[in-house]
Amino acid sequence: MAIIGAIHACAREAARYESRMKIAPTPARLAGIAALLLATTSASASPPTTAVDLAQNDGVAWSITEDLTTEIGPRMAGTEAEAAARRWAVARLQAMGFANVREEQFDMPVWVRGEEQAWLTSPFLSQKLAIAALGNSASTGAKGIEGDVAYFDSFDALAAAADSQVKGKIVFIDHKMQPTQDGSGYGYYGRGRFTGPNVAAKKGAAAIVIRSIGTDAHRNPHTGVTNFEAGVKPIPAGAISNPDADQLVRQWKRAGPSGEPLRLKLVLTPQNLGTKHSGNVIAEVPGSDPAASPVIVACHLDSWDLGTGAIDDAAGCGIITAAAKHVMSAGQPRRTIRILWAGAEEVGVFGGKAYFDKHGKEKHAAALESDFGADRVWRVDFKLPDSAKTLADRIAAAVMPFGVVRGKQPANGGADIGALVQAGVPAVDLAQDGTRYFDLHHTPDDTLDKIDPAQLRQNVAVWAATLAILADSSDGELP
Ligand SMILES: [Zn+2]
Repeated sequence: MAIIGAIHACAREAARYESRMKIAPTPARLAGIAALLLATTSASASPPTTAVDLAQNDGVAWSITEDLTTEIGPRMAGTEAEAAARRWAVARLQAMGFANVREEQFDMPVWVRGEEQAWLTSPFLSQKLAIAALGNSASTGAKGIEGDVAYFDSFDALAAAADSQVKGKIVFIDHKMQPTQDGSGYGYYGRGRFTGPNVAAKKGAAAIVIRSIGTDAHRNPHTGVTNFEAGVKPIPAGAISNPDADQLVRQWKRAGPSGEPLRLKLVLTPQNLGTKHSGNVIAEVPGSDPAASPVIVACHLDSWDLGTGAIDDAAGCGIITAAAKHVMSAGQPRRTIRILWAGAEEVGVFGGKAYFDKHGKEKHAAALESDFGADRVWRVDFKLPDSAKTLADRIAAAVMPFGVVRGKQPANGGADIGALVQAGVPAVDLAQDGTRYFDLHHTPDDTLDKIDPAQLRQNVAVWAATLAILADSSDGELP
């Protein structure tokens, strides 16, 4: 016990040193320090250092987030920047001492942004708007297009409209998203972006502009992917910032009585580059029982291109990896922990699908994902088999000291582990506070300075507590 205590104490000191120095600890270095201390210190009665103890002083999540956003920056799926991020990820995960670090490649269609400009041209003086194209938007051509605005106060209003109200016009969907702690407004308001362009295209619209799916009041448009059904010809599709949408609406209200239409001009020149490579990066903490199924923890490595992808989702990769690292440093877990830094999530969850195609038939004990920023975890939700009732109780008790409440809804996993959870893999959600997430989401403001180190560290502690329990769970509790 004394020897174990000393080793754990060494690990703790080493981790403090590592976090101060922002150097990834290596097993070799830890072993060296441990040997030195074993030779020079007498027996100690201090309890073993746990993953949670290590997580309380975490510097790993911050350093991953800072280094990825600084050295790589924006990393659009399928681009050279995303490939550079994968090379960076493999090197970092190897340096941290994880096993089986590898890239698993897949192919996907690649879309990239071009020039993007918009003006309100009539009936008032021409005014420029802040616009960003939505992923999969068609091009207007370099000369752009101009048309009358067809106004809708919501996605539902557009869906209910007759084709004649829309044909040949530039559709505008107004519908201001409101912030919620659990982020649940995204599904409701987000329909304007997810399927609004497809609905407008089917009704014969020339183009579509939406009020950004965002809760801020900055002149930052929020990008994001949209999808057109097979057989529907894509139209130009963009989002304008909230203040620009307010301006458009004021002009629309004043144009009405004048009898003159409100008109918009758009220049959007995105391109489809065809099929390119993307990939998932995978690393493992090997479990002591090779027959036990692994716990999988996920984030996504790709990001949108307007910011540096700090909250979406460098921080998520930092959180899950730091937690796995602390569990590994505190002593070998029974189950393997598999870390998945998924590629190409933003543009259609291609990495999550590729992982499922390759590994979906393997048994997984549980799946978790961090992809909702870097603010504190406030709720834990479970979707576990009946055999895991006391396991869920143990996790809920372990995260309570960090101010995390137990939810009443079943966990739903996350995008990159969605197919696994759909197929029946047990899931735990560590739900983050999303109150300000949609101020920043998919905007130029998604940058490192928006991350609060104390809240980031709380995430790591909650994840370490949860992961330590899952990774030591029995075969009677989880598959
Ligand atoms: Zn994300």
